Amino acid sequence: MTAIPSPFAYAPAPESVRPVLKASYGLFIGGKFVDPKSGKSFQTINPATEEPIAEVADAGAADVARAVDAARKAFPKWSKTKPAERAKLLFRIARRIQERSRELAVLESMNGGKPIKESRDEDLPLVVQHFFHHAGWCDKLPYAFAGAQPKPVGVCGQIIPWNFPLMMAAWKLAPALACGNTCVLKPAETTPLTALMLAEILQECGLPDGVVNIVTGGPDAGRAITALAGSGVDKIAFTGSTEVGKAIAKAVAGTGVKLTLELGGKSPNIVFADAALDQAVEGVVSGIWFNQGHVCCAGSRLFVEESAHDDFVARLERRMQQLRVGDPLDKNTDVGAINSKAQLETINRYLKAGSAEGAHKHEVSCPLPKKGFWCRPTIFTGVQPSHTIAREEIFGPVVSVMTFRTPEEAVQRANNTTYGLSAGVWTEKAARALEMSNRLGAGVVWLNTFNRFDASAPFGGYKESGFGREGGRQGLSAYLKVGGGR
Ligand code: NAD
Repeated sequence: MTAIPSPFAYAPAPESVRPVLKASYGLFIGGKFVDPKSGKSFQTINPATEEPIAEVADAGAADVARAVDAARKAFPKWSKTKPAERAKLLFRIARRIQERSRELAVLESMNGGKPIKESRDEDLPLVVQHFFHHAGWCDKLPYAFAGAQPKPVGVCGQIIPWNFPLMMAAWKLAPALACGNTCVLKPAETTPLTALMLAEILQECGLPDGVVNIVTGGPDAGRAITALAGSGVDKIAFTGSTEVGKAIAKAVAGTGVKLTLELGGKSPNIVFADAALDQAVEGVVSGIWFNQGHVCCAGSRLFVEESAHDDFVARLERRMQQLRVGDPLDKNTDVGAINSKAQLETINRYLKAGSAEGAHKHEVSCPLPKKGFWCRPTIFTGVQPSHTIAREEIFGPVVSVMTFRTPEEAVQRANNTTYGLSAGVWTEKAARALEMSNRLGAGVVWLNTFNRFDASAPFGGYKESGFGREGGRQGLSAYLKVGGGR
């Protein structure tokens, strides 16, 4: 199908705010930006233009050890700081992020490729919410874990991915700080800049030196953090791929260190014939094309009841053709740039495999920018459960459509995966929705909606999607020793 020509094409609406950036950034250790002992740095680029944005320090093992030392030194005082004082600081950080949110949103889009309307309206509000929410917990921990005498764990090593850089930083830092821990955070190598701007905000807000340390770098810097598990680092929190999560689980095993893993997914989005179909189409759009499909809980396996399949796919394809792909800093853009060349190559391999294994490809027909990393939003129909694109996480704007005839078959097919992060169910029958949600093996089940997050709602997975929760009271327990134990 080709795009329906619109008589009302949108004029470009470029974002005018530009963040104030330095040409180069050191590591944020002990409350200051310092040069890396490794003497190494790397260029971070804009994936929509392939142009460099800034030079960023590449932390070596000695730098990570220095950051862990700084966090250790800061721990005794910070963990004994009055909870209400910690709360005041977290509130201040939340407010300052709010004040600078447009600048942070633009930087997130520049460094990561996501559309400004998403970084502005989804990422930043959730970042702020996480700090506000956790500020409120600081002085209520003894009530949240009544009788258990909750105590901070100590120094937390936190390693995050590139798909929601600042949001992942907030999900890690806010609960850890609320519970009285100190942190060494490592952003992903392709998206370090908003974490470094956050470091400036922490300085402005007067967070004591060493309470948060930010070390930029690649997998080696991450490995240097996990290597200190049990000898300086008391907790590891990781969000990223299942493959790296398994390596980290091995590295941490036997150290007695608390571990949480938020890993990949291949989540089902299930549409019954009785659903409000146009509403379900919007849910599928946000389930798979939000953030270019770089979403751990993306609804990348779409199951449509057989009797509604043709009608639903036609509606979905018509809607897909309306998506505007292009400049992430244009306020009209729906789908931005793929985060990196390497990720684009991965997605392209899956697109080839989908066609080679016999699925039918439908893609957006709009022109793509010449420079930068771009992928057309894609639907595969005629997908079999054994196809690679039905089993493996693509982490791109590609949805695989399959069918089912009965609720029983929908549950079986949806649960036939090594993952278990999220699921969506679309039906007008409340009893069916609740029955399905009880039977789906996923950490989060959305009913008649998709990709909704809230700081008070725990998020996390089962099986190869990891363990541990982020958000809510459950998320706090990962950062506390309760009952005097671990
Ligand atoms: P990745 O696993 O390659 O990298 C994640 C982070 O780990 C990066 O900071 C990286 O530098 C670091 N790292 C890499 N190798 C390491 C090692 N051996 N030891 C320590 N650190 C190491 O993942 P990615 O490509 O950045 O992110 C995409 C993945 O993240 C997807 O699989 C996605 O599903 C997952 N994800 C999960 C959630 C969730 O909450 N479950 C959220 C976002 C992303």
